[in-house]
Amino acid sequence: MRILLVEDDPLISRNVRDVLERNGYLVEQVDNGEDAWFLGDTEDYAAIILDLGLPVLDGLSVLKRWRENGQRLPVLILTARGDWAERVEGIDAGADDYLAKPFQMAELLARLRALIRRSSGQASSIISVGNIRIDTIHQAVSIDGQPVKLTPMEMRCLTYLATQDGRVVSQMELTDQLYAQDFERDSNSVEVLVGRLRKKLGPNIIKTKRGFGYILENGAL
Ligand code: CA
Repeated sequence: MRILLVEDDPLISRNVRDVLERNGYLVEQVDNGEDAWFLGDTEDYAAIILDLGLPVLDGLSVLKRWRENGQRLPVLILTARGDWAERVEGIDAGADDYLAKPFQMAELLARLRALIRRSSGQASSIISVGNIRIDTIHQAVSIDGQPVKLTPMEMRCLTYLATQDGRVVSQMELTDQLYAQDFERDSNSVEVLVGRLRKKLGPNIIKTKRGFGYILENGAL
């Protein structure tokens, strides 16, 4: 799951990034509204965390521009404590949720999970695919109740495919979602990753649609 984090306070930014990464997210981070606007308009993210008080271009203007351009990505805004007018303005501008500073990391994680679940049509934090159970809160996977050990990257890949609701995901999209932009990209790495997942979870769980990409179908087994 790729997240865009827009926050100009270096301490908050670093803390949030650390926590998100420990919880299996891929984080891209910017500290001003202009970069945020550009990335949110051109890249694909599972969700965006957007501070409203930002240099160059404020968060509210960024959000309005995204929405005017038809950008529908789920956005969680970070607002100043007690500033209800800012929250109202943010929600009116198209924010999907808000969190007032200072906040607890556990609450940020819970809201982010809920946001991503809602946008992908998942009602629960547990995803079942055939006999495989993916617990997105505890980052745990089991087959017929037996735990399977996955690396963070394998977990990220499986969760992304499982939240796409049976949609075919191209290799390029999967690469975008799994690797940071500055990562030296190699289309083989996604193939290798899927190969390792098939070894651990069974050969039929992730199907390859030749020329199109990968698909993980609910009840595929
Ligand atoms: Ca700020």
